[in-house]
Amino acid sequence: MSSGLKQMAVDCLAPATLAAVVAFWYFAPASVVDNPWTLLIVSSVVTVFVLGLELVFERHEGWRINRQELLTDLFYFILINTVIQRLASMLNEEPLRALKASWGIATPWAAELPFLAQVLLVWSVWEFGQYWMHRLMHNWEPFWLTHAPHHHITQLNAMKGAVGNPIELFLISLGVVALFDVSPATYLCAFSAGNVVSTFNHANVRSNPPLFYSFFFTSIRHHSYHHSVGYENTRCNYGNAIILFDRILGTYKEGEGVLVGQDDRRRLTIWEQFMFPFKPLVAMIERRRNGSSAAG
Ligand SMILES: [Zn+2]
Ligand SMILES: [Zn+2]
Repeated sequence: MSSGLKQMAVDCLAPATLAAVVAFWYFAPASVVDNPWTLLIVSSVVTVFVLGLELVFERHEGWRINRQELLTDLFYFILINTVIQRLASMLNEEPLRALKASWGIATPWAAELPFLAQVLLVWSVWEFGQYWMHRLMHNWEPFWLTHAPHHHITQLNAMKGAVGNPIELFLISLGVVALFDVSPATYLCAFSAGNVVSTFNHANVRSNPPLFYSFFFTSIRHHSYHHSVGYENTRCNYGNAIILFDRILGTYKEGEGVLVGQDDRRRLTIWEQFMFPFKPLVAMIERRRNGSSAAG
């Protein structure tokens, strides 16, 4: 295969994986859809696949995965798929379903749509909420404090989308899609699709998807630019998976980041990531304590 043709194939990896995952949920029998492990298995297979691609088609040497990064990323991958998912289900989906039942909210028209249209509906409503939550995080200090740990990562890899303060991870898991009457496969497909795009747009893979994909979906170029050093540089390209919202709402910026991180680009430990939102509070308590000991 000529090198041009080979690069073209590599560039199509994200759209091809997305198509494969959508096809999987479309054709999956009910027993597979109903199995609570299926979503996690699909996410894991996609993640392992993209981690493998990082080894074969490395984008930047400075982003190369090592043991410490891999173990930290794995910790967050597990945290999201267990505790955060359970919390989101208990505090968001279940109350919404109860509200839906008690208020008699029904969307029978949604169930009538073809599968792909249902997926697009759920996915875009979900992503629209994520877009605004993410934009709020970059525009209001209390929310930024929860999201900043995600921006303190100093390299991008397949699982880095999962790395962040738990409060942020919970906030970004909130949505209203539980109000729709669509099949379980539709929900799972929409989440899986978002996961594929987010995995690729955080990955150290030398693959730049063609315009038919990157016009609508967030690519590594868009998202690495969002991870650029310096707070002001991060205030663009908020779409976690659907960059079209940034194009429409005027927050799109063309470009690419290679050096990623914040401030002095110091890598935070998991403990520092967990404690980050409380930094101003801790500083205030210390100031008071020092003040009172100086006075005493
Ligand atoms: Zn951000
Ligand atoms: Zn990110």
